[in-house]
Amino acid sequence: MNKTKITKKSDGNLDVPDIPVIPFIEGDGIGPDIWHASKMVMDGAVQAAYDGNRKIEWLEVFAGEKGFEKTGDWLPESTLKTIQEHVIAIKGPLTTPVGKGIRSINVSIRQKLDLFACVRPVVYIDSVPSPMKYPEKINMVVFRENTEDLYAGIEWESESEAAQRVLSFLNNEMGVSLPSDAGIGIKPISVKNTKRLVASAISYAIVHGCPSVTLMHKGNIMKFTEGAFRRWGYEVAQERFGESVITEDELYTTYGGVQAEGKIVIKDRIADMLFQQVLLRPEEYHVIATPNLNGDYISDALAAQVGGLGMAPGANIGDDCAVFEATHGTAPKYAGMDKVNPSSVILSGAMMLDYMGWKEPSALIREGIKKTIKAGTVTYDLARQIKSAKEIKCSEFAEKIIENLN
Ligand code: NAP
Repeated sequence: MNKTKITKKSDGNLDVPDIPVIPFIEGDGIGPDIWHASKMVMDGAVQAAYDGNRKIEWLEVFAGEKGFEKTGDWLPESTLKTIQEHVIAIKGPLTTPVGKGIRSINVSIRQKLDLFACVRPVVYIDSVPSPMKYPEKINMVVFRENTEDLYAGIEWESESEAAQRVLSFLNNEMGVSLPSDAGIGIKPISVKNTKRLVASAISYAIVHGCPSVTLMHKGNIMKFTEGAFRRWGYEVAQERFGESVITEDELYTTYGGVQAEGKIVIKDRIADMLFQQVLLRPEEYHVIATPNLNGDYISDALAAQVGGLGMAPGANIGDDCAVFEATHGTAPKYAGMDKVNPSSVILSGAMMLDYMGWKEPSALIREGIKKTIKAGTVTYDLARQIKSAKEIKCSEFAEKIIENLN
């Protein structure tokens, strides 16, 4: 069997060979521990599902501390090029080098590869300790815009020459009155980037049979950025998916408040209110599409509702390629201790397998994790919350999942 690259077909679907070459970034801090565990589980699940007829050929690429050690670069161009060429990659967490001229390696990867949608499914896994009374009601996917908003990185420090020039322009020519010692940040939100994000959220809802897509925004205050996000979101829903969507108004005026077969309800909620609603009435929300900063907040808050960041998978998806990743950071105090929970990368791996169309091993992984947690054999983070659980190491947790694959 040939090991070859995954490619994109002209219709946008993937062409996945039986032995695809998939680049991985091990990650910093706890990265090596969780990558080792995750690779074992993904390989075990593919073997269990396909009995040697399919297999992943892993290709290491470098970024973060290892990238800097090997190449003198925190994010080598060769890494970005290899990911682009192979269409799919997976990564562990990366340290943000403080004061080293690069804002965040993770943000740079998303922006340089134009991975415009950060996709975070939030689903409750039975037996995981949760602060919610009914965590099983939570089943959502957050589509967070990844390339603009305040994360565009356009800002000027208080009292710098650049800030003074911007302030002078704003105060003298734009009719505003800002304090002379203000730091300034710019919040760009564009038609193109909003529409492609919302369109990918609606496409996801159609493919997965989700009843609604909620546009989360703060348009009551920021009318020309977040308010525009809301307006453009409704526009693209009509322009591209007119047959498949209805608004919340139409749900009540035309359909008597009853979800119509084959229709997705497009609704919008102001961000602060949505934070209340996902706690009080989570069952009413399915897909959430939102600008970058709101998305950062809501996806971590939702992850906490189903058991925390150690369990939360994620993917950054663009038109040309996708990078699947742990949603937590490098947790440096646990580095090299073989201690932390590898589920975030393992479940991101399951998302990656789904994205490749390899549904059988991804289902085995989710079932394997569920059984392992139910048996009470868990890493420290879950052990400290589950009475009578036995704490095991990161690598032992992976071994248990593999035992539970079948
Ligand atoms: P963090 O690394 O996510 O760790 C914060 C805390 O979360 C840990 O101390 C631990 O809690 C818990 N935790 C994280 N991962 C866990 C896991 N796999 N299993 C169990 N518990 C886990 O956040 P941080 O300390 O703020 O950030 C450290 C570095 O990571 C920074 O350089 C930051 O920039 C970077 N970062 C990278 C990414 C990314 O690569 N996508 C994301 C966020 C942050 P307890 O202490 O309670 O045990």
